[in-house]
Amino acid sequence: MSATSNGHQTRRTFAIISHPDAGKTTLTEKLLLNSGAIHLAGQVAERGERRRTRSDWMEIEQKRGISITSSVMTFEHDGLTLNLLDTPGHADFSEDTYRTLTAVDSAIMVIDAAKGIEAQTLKLFEVCRLRDIPIITFVNKIDREARDTLEILDEIMETLALDTAPMMWPVGAGVDFSGLIDLEQGRFVNPDGTPEADAPGVTAIASRFATTQNQTIAAAMEGLELARESLPKFDLEAYREGHLTPVYFGSALKSIGVRELLEAVCRFAPSPRIQPARPEPVDPAGAKCTGFVFKVQANMDPNHRDRVAFVRLAAGTMSRGMKLKNVRSGKEIKVNNPMFFFARERELADSAVAGDVVGIPNHGTLSVGDTLTEGADITVTGIPNFAPELLRRVHLSDTSKTKQLAKALSDLAEEGVIQVFKPSIGAGYYVGAVGPLQLEVLTSRAQAEYGVPIRIEPAQYVTARWVKVGDEKAFEKFAALHRLNIAQDRYGDPVFLAPSQWEIDRCAKDFPELTFMATKDRG
Ligand code: GDP
Repeated sequence: MSATSNGHQTRRTFAIISHPDAGKTTLTEKLLLNSGAIHLAGQVAERGERRRTRSDWMEIEQKRGISITSSVMTFEHDGLTLNLLDTPGHADFSEDTYRTLTAVDSAIMVIDAAKGIEAQTLKLFEVCRLRDIPIITFVNKIDREARDTLEILDEIMETLALDTAPMMWPVGAGVDFSGLIDLEQGRFVNPDGTPEADAPGVTAIASRFATTQNQTIAAAMEGLELARESLPKFDLEAYREGHLTPVYFGSALKSIGVRELLEAVCRFAPSPRIQPARPEPVDPAGAKCTGFVFKVQANMDPNHRDRVAFVRLAAGTMSRGMKLKNVRSGKEIKVNNPMFFFARERELADSAVAGDVVGIPNHGTLSVGDTLTEGADITVTGIPNFAPELLRRVHLSDTSKTKQLAKALSDLAEEGVIQVFKPSIGAGYYVGAVGPLQLEVLTSRAQAEYGVPIRIEPAQYVTARWVKVGDEKAFEKFAALHRLNIAQDRYGDPVFLAPSQWEIDRCAKDFPELTFMATKDRG
């Protein structure tokens, strides 16, 4: 692949955010099918409702010679390279998901047409809003009974405080579903998902349903009239700034409206954006390679203790064999075996540009939040650690496994599964998580991958705060008073294990020289 400094303009790096069961997996597969990256329609039907696992994807990958992993799927459409980053699909909000969203430039929000905005969609949306990530909405499962279209649009506007511009209009839903009107192109999309060849305009299409006896369809057409009068038109700038979402409708399962959604991503989604960094933001057009680790995945192959750092490029070109500096440690690494995730002609993928994601196998030299450069002291910012909402003690019954436990906790903390805190006095560890599932994952992986049986026990602390030490003396005084509450995170930074919010407030008042931080930006 020829590397140019403007190659990033052809990149669209995005994620799908949704509540479990809204149809993210099905839609992902249909996007790949529609782009021509895979041709599996028969096979998919055969598999029916069965959930596809990662090994299924691997199998697909081997058969088709393309690269699909659970973390990043790269495919091409309309001369563009699309990088779809996977956000874990469970109901539990995890730090991993948040960090993945720091590596995308836009998102598709999938909503179940019968359910509207659900809890997890809302949480993920809020994360996107923090970074002004533009969002295209896909209202899925229109082949089933659905809520009224205007009501869905209203809910998006009210719950998310986001303007909506419907781009398609469903003519009925469920058994009454009679097609989609493409409001932008003035074209009709048949109930089977195929668009009509000509585009007679929205009014002409609407008139076809003027005399319908079907109540649902009549209501849909009335809704359309109201929407055309009252809702804002699509505005690219408002979308890019995160104020307005274009709304598409369809069925991922039946491949209705998916092609139009894919085209919307290609036409509207932004190319790589400027990345916040110190001492100054990184421009994607910059010639020097700059990237940051947003995810580390260990033990993808259980027989082989491997560890892959997923690096999102923010500028320049990364090629095989290149030497890069890990700004945090100051150490140089040679990128010998980068994994590129291009869907097409894998052998050409010898380099990647801004917007792309590269997997770098390593043995623990790369951690989440690290910045890689061609030597410059640039640190990408905005990849935080969160103060854990759950703080627990790790109980190890078999004390002959102390070493393995240390290794398991260190590895899994590095992956972002949990955070680990080592008290400055006494043995043992505390682990922190934002959601309870993270703790379950810790317990089962410690057993399965490291042979360490652990139990998670309540702790006498409710949360943790990173202590920013402006004044060493003040910290020493503080530490002397709170010896039992002082721990270190895995970078050796001091952490205050707090028995209550009240205690945090009191310490902050008593020690104005110290800052007690709820998030620590690794940048
Ligand atoms: P995820 O949890 O968001 O990844 O959701 P899945 O893609 O696994 O879908 C959840 C369930 O909804 C599965 O049984 C799918 O077959 C089904 N599903 C997904 N999209 C549609 C759709 O457009 N129409 C209907 N009727 N079912 C769908």
